[in-house]
Amino acid sequence: MDVKAPLGTEDILPEQAALWQKVEATARSLFARYGYGEIRTPIFESTRLFVRSIGETTDIVEKEMYTFGEGEDSLTLRPEATAPVVRAYLEHSLHKVRAFQKLYYIGPMFRHERPQAGRKRQFHQIGVEAIGASDFRLDAEVIALACHLLDELGIRGYRLRLNVIGTPASRSGYRDLIKAELAKQADALCPDCRRRLDRNVFRVLDCKNEPCIAISRRLPRILDHLPEAERTHFARVAEALRSTQVPFEEDPFLVRGFDYYTGVVFEIAHGALGAQDALCGGGRYDNLIADLGGPALGATGWAMGMERLLTAIQATQGAPQPPPLDLYIVTLGERARIAAIEYLNKLRRAGVAADTDYECRGLKAQMRAADKLRARFVTVIGDNELASGSLKLKHMASGAETEVAGVDGLLQKLRQHSGEGAGGLELNP
Ligand code: AMP
Repeated sequence: MDVKAPLGTEDILPEQAALWQKVEATARSLFARYGYGEIRTPIFESTRLFVRSIGETTDIVEKEMYTFGEGEDSLTLRPEATAPVVRAYLEHSLHKVRAFQKLYYIGPMFRHERPQAGRKRQFHQIGVEAIGASDFRLDAEVIALACHLLDELGIRGYRLRLNVIGTPASRSGYRDLIKAELAKQADALCPDCRRRLDRNVFRVLDCKNEPCIAISRRLPRILDHLPEAERTHFARVAEALRSTQVPFEEDPFLVRGFDYYTGVVFEIAHGALGAQDALCGGGRYDNLIADLGGPALGATGWAMGMERLLTAIQATQGAPQPPPLDLYIVTLGERARIAAIEYLNKLRRAGVAADTDYECRGLKAQMRAADKLRARFVTVIGDNELASGSLKLKHMASGAETEVAGVDGLLQKLRQHSGEGAGGLELNP
């Protein structure tokens, strides 16, 4: 076929989906422990939402949005979910119910980027938003939650970097300072950074070109140019992280790609990811709620890239096995195949992961299929079994065979083994 999945998109096949489900289930269970509720917002939003929140001079808004329609009606596939979550929070007046809310989301995002390893046009994020508080303990808890999730997923060797970037007002002095410094060396900057000088000078700090990195690393540190209160907030977040044994490095030149960030920001990278090594990014966005027409409430959050999480997991743990089957029913002959319909129905309704052959193959081929599906038990039904009502249940690991009476006998025996832990689901009582 000459039609392929669009560039920068990916099919998630059943074998990989097992790992996706595991990651999602781990995240959901952890989020519940930290008091987060799930929020699901639309895949597309009014374009204005992203322009206003992410910022007109950011890469995303300038060149990476999938936008359709014009003017007021213009819609955009969401490139990120913080703005949609805040929009929903305000639209449903969640702040009137309870000003402080912990919300999480899992879903696809869309950015028209140049695809490469680790960079997709449709990718997925798991993210949290804690809206309605400016307490330093919340910054620390939210960051620790990201690390906790990586730990629960068995990801080792990640690196957390932390910085504070102030608010547009509190960093204006620093902005002017670095603008003046960088202007003196403009000739040595890349063309993109020369443009950034006027439009959004902080983006220079994020440039990946060596000459620009060398220049920006010699700039003064933002921390030294922020008001006392913001410096103290940062120090207290750092202290709280130390007290929970979350290892981090301070990176005075860490900036984020969205304009809505204020205060403490962070990024988590992993060495197994190659050039696109960011696993997770986030921070405080204390002005966004008011900027979108709501009350002046502080907030913080982060987003993790699912695809990159999976790469990091597979780098340390290898590919996962799909869950095994409890029982495979081998059928010999037409009558057995018909009987299997009823058996399977009964067994599955009782909670057994059971399957059979649909291709009318011989005994050997069916046994091979059972093996491939990692069936814990196999039973062979033929005319003799149907006539006598007596079935043999074979435990594949030990080779032991037990005689049982019909499908009820099968079920009873399987129930006795349901605690073994090797099989699929817990059997229904
Ligand atoms: P951001 O929303 O840009 O802060 O990104 C948060 C996380 O999403 C990053 O750390 C990546 O793990 C992931 N991510 C962002 N953009 C992409 C992309 N184009 N493809 C795959 N993952 C991405």
